[in-house]
Amino acid sequence: MHALSKKHRVAASSPKGLGMVIAALYLLLVSVFVPGCRREEDSAVAAQVVTTKTGIEMVAIPGGFFEMGSAKEGLDESPVHRVWVSPFLMDRFEVVQEQFKKLQISDPSHFKNPKNPLEQINWTDAAMYCNERSLAEGLDPCYEEKTWQCNFKANGYRLPTEAEWEYACRAGTTTKYFFGSDARRLKDYAWFKDSSSGKTHPVGLKKPNPWGLHDMYGNVAEWCNDIYLKSYYSQGEQRDPKGPAKGRERVLRGGAWNSRADACRSAYRASDPSIDDTCLASDAVGFRCVRNASDNVSSEPNMTAQNPHNSASKTGLVYDDIYLEHKTTPGHPERPERLTGILDNLKAKGLMDKLTLLKPAPVSLEWIKTIHSQQYIDRVQESCRDGTAHLDSADTPISPKSYEAALAAAGGVLAAVDAVMEGRVDNAFCAVRPPGHHALENRAMGFCIFNNVAIGAKYIQKKCGLSKVLIVDWDVHHGNGTQAAFYDDPTVLYFSVHQYPFYPGTGGEAEKGSGKGVNYNINVPLPARSGDDVYIKAFEEKLRPAALDFSPDFVLISAGFDAHENDLLGGMAVTADGFARLTQIVKAIAQKSCRGRLVSVLEGGYQLKGLADSVEAHIRVLMR
Ligand SMILES: [Zn+2]
Repeated sequence: MHALSKKHRVAASSPKGLGMVIAALYLLLVSVFVPGCRREEDSAVAAQVVTTKTGIEMVAIPGGFFEMGSAKEGLDESPVHRVWVSPFLMDRFEVVQEQFKKLQISDPSHFKNPKNPLEQINWTDAAMYCNERSLAEGLDPCYEEKTWQCNFKANGYRLPTEAEWEYACRAGTTTKYFFGSDARRLKDYAWFKDSSSGKTHPVGLKKPNPWGLHDMYGNVAEWCNDIYLKSYYSQGEQRDPKGPAKGRERVLRGGAWNSRADACRSAYRASDPSIDDTCLASDAVGFRCVRNASDNVSSEPNMTAQNPHNSASKTGLVYDDIYLEHKTTPGHPERPERLTGILDNLKAKGLMDKLTLLKPAPVSLEWIKTIHSQQYIDRVQESCRDGTAHLDSADTPISPKSYEAALAAAGGVLAAVDAVMEGRVDNAFCAVRPPGHHALENRAMGFCIFNNVAIGAKYIQKKCGLSKVLIVDWDVHHGNGTQAAFYDDPTVLYFSVHQYPFYPGTGGEAEKGSGKGVNYNINVPLPARSGDDVYIKAFEEKLRPAALDFSPDFVLISAGFDAHENDLLGGMAVTADGFARLTQIVKAIAQKSCRGRLVSVLEGGYQLKGLADSVEAHIRVLMR
């Protein structure tokens, strides 16, 4: 696709100021749009998401003015001109291959995967898909299929005008990119030349723009409805401009997997002369649909409105009876009843039916070996088989099935990560044992055999291709094993709040990481008897700013509940409500940074009622 590699242009800045006005206007409109929806405290701007009859998510884009184009970057991007765009709905994601299959249209894509964007699609076929989708939902098609003229008054789907595309992409910003002007940050938002490994990727894995639209930059360039004319901006209309009347080329926006950063800018324009020639269609070209909207989207008959941050959320619960087969010695606080107590309480409170039950997948040793040595893994297996009573110390009693249970505990975390990544659940709690955060590369410690959370973080990075993981550890004990696993690693931010001095002895404030990992290990040691207020203050003042600055792609919680006021081992005074508040803060971080991707994993918690109540409070917040 020659058009996507247009020759280099001179960099420049664009006018500022109006963006703030638009953003304010937007917030105002959103609050009018969604009167009944609760906004999560401190969540990202809550754009309204609607789900169409055929199950496609669209974002309600409010009407407004914006400054279109760029003064100096591309000749075809100037002059910058003020444009009004009426409210519309835009697909939250690029059209993916499985959507085409649903309408029984054959899939032309080169990089085959149901969740990858559709590509190798020419403009007319994209317009035809819009019509098919309109018909499937009982709407009036916009395109006349002989001339491909667009009827903008029809209520069906169409390609966005170039003005609609840029307005939605900018989302109130006036900088080069919607995240600012530093192209080095583009890899967090886009699959482009430097991040794509030469192919498209499933939509929605990169961070969205401020209005919740994903993959506006990179992955595939997107068709606009407009005919491309280099000099059009000097003569375009001010209100809902629709492009020139005549011409052969159509506009492409946003850059693709093979584009350099500059071609992904909000104002960057490209075109393709091959619109009527399927042979020239490229695997770097796709699209997303829009349709007209009134200001009150929720009242439209074939839409289900929801707030993306507060939709009827799906929370997963990982559990398997194998976890009860890890037997410890009589009187040991880490016992199977911890889990049965949690489950009985969830059943009694009617929560069980509302959770998506997830089973641990058989875990490949490859994942255990990302954290533990082969020699240690073998030793765990042999010790269980031989009937050895303890692993490494009297703290960690084992039984014949402890090895299997420990593998399944790690496997449970991986199953939860998969379910979140595949969109089967929004988040998940893993009711697993043995716990993991004290386990070291070569040694069991503090009731822990394999480090479930650390293995989960490696899996997220290596299997799911996400780069940054935040681990929040609120177990009353310091997670020395997790700290050790990522001490020099700047891609995993480990945050631990714990009683100190206390078992296992580590976790001082001065332990901040080493090498490239300096400042990516944050310990907040607290004195005994610390309660809800102290914990919440630490989360608000220490965790929140560091986490938002780090901007994780996935959040894991090492959820130990042994800081509960009645716990048998801990000396802290946190209540079930306090754990709910902590959950709320971590959830808001996940929502702001990574579409809410969060998996929480049980660590400690030894007073059965305090544990069950705390887990219930924790899960209720995850489910909201
Ligand atoms: Zn603990």
